[in-house]
Amino acid sequence: MTPGRVMVSDVALNDGRSIPQVGFGVYQIAPEHTAAAVSRALAAGYRLVDTSMAYGNEAEVGDAVRGGRKPVFVTTKYFNADLTHGYQDAQSAFHASVERLGLDHVDLYLLHWPMKLQDRYVQAWKGLIDLRGSKGLGSIGVSNFQAEHLVRIIDQTGVTPAVNQIELHPYFQQPDLREEHARRGIVTEAWGPLGQGKVLEDPALVAIGDAHAKTAAQVVLRWHLQLGNVIIPKSTTPDRVRENIDILDFELSDAQMSVIEGLDRGQRSGPDPGTFEFPRDYRGRHFQTRPE
Ligand code: NAD
Repeated sequence: MTPGRVMVSDVALNDGRSIPQVGFGVYQIAPEHTAAAVSRALAAGYRLVDTSMAYGNEAEVGDAVRGGRKPVFVTTKYFNADLTHGYQDAQSAFHASVERLGLDHVDLYLLHWPMKLQDRYVQAWKGLIDLRGSKGLGSIGVSNFQAEHLVRIIDQTGVTPAVNQIELHPYFQQPDLREEHARRGIVTEAWGPLGQGKVLEDPALVAIGDAHAKTAAQVVLRWHLQLGNVIIPKSTTPDRVRENIDILDFELSDAQMSVIEGLDRGQRSGPDPGTFEFPRDYRGRHFQTRPE
């Protein structure tokens, strides 16, 4: 860690554990670039890495985590894109991820999508519940779940996810879902916290950044922190990786928080989990990588 830098705080989870509030996402980072990108992030002070079986880079995340000197909070996900997903498949997928990671721990294991068409996410959630006692598995949660999906798994199993990882940024703020999380004690983790880069030229964000001698990206990430969200910005550009965690030495005023609240357009970057289905044969093909 750079001398003088304030340490990122942890956020308490509903299962007695905790999660660092800032992490590093590796979606669309090619496997051959992943270990170096994660190592750079760890050197810059990140203590959490977010991957998925679908990103095709778990092994390289594991390489970098094993090579680091400090403990790292590792998240991976059960990518339930085909019709066979469910209780058994979730459990096999977890063990396969652990194998690929080559680590003795997974701190957070998430069910990646509700996948309404298959309608097997309750069974898959039961699979994760029964994995909880497994050696090396910390917490379990979900991703891309809307209120109706949360209600269903909680009502049918009595187990509330520790985390719901959802798309969240100034143009897509999901206030109702965040309130539902707060009521139920679920931590909100923001994916695409920078709107995948699309919000960063917004003049209001640039102006707030100028007032603090910070970039629009830093303003957006600081806004998330002040809302209590866990964030997992992604970049393979070394300066940006450092910039995205250099957000602990300034504070947005209430007025600035309100300006950002006013930018919400209900505009997603990614798919709508209420209707979205991957092609049935998607599983096994990894998400494409994207250069920056
Ligand atoms: P993001 O909002 O983190 O945006 C990343 C992009 O923003 C980069 O590719 C780059 O183009 C730009 N960028 C990053 N830092 C910048 C900076 N300082 N200045 C200017 N531009 C900058 O989007 P993301 O990668 O989609 O999301 C982050 C992480 O969330 C992923 O890596 C992944 O781990 C996770 N994720 C999860 C899901 C899910 O379904 N659960 C979906 C997408 C992403």
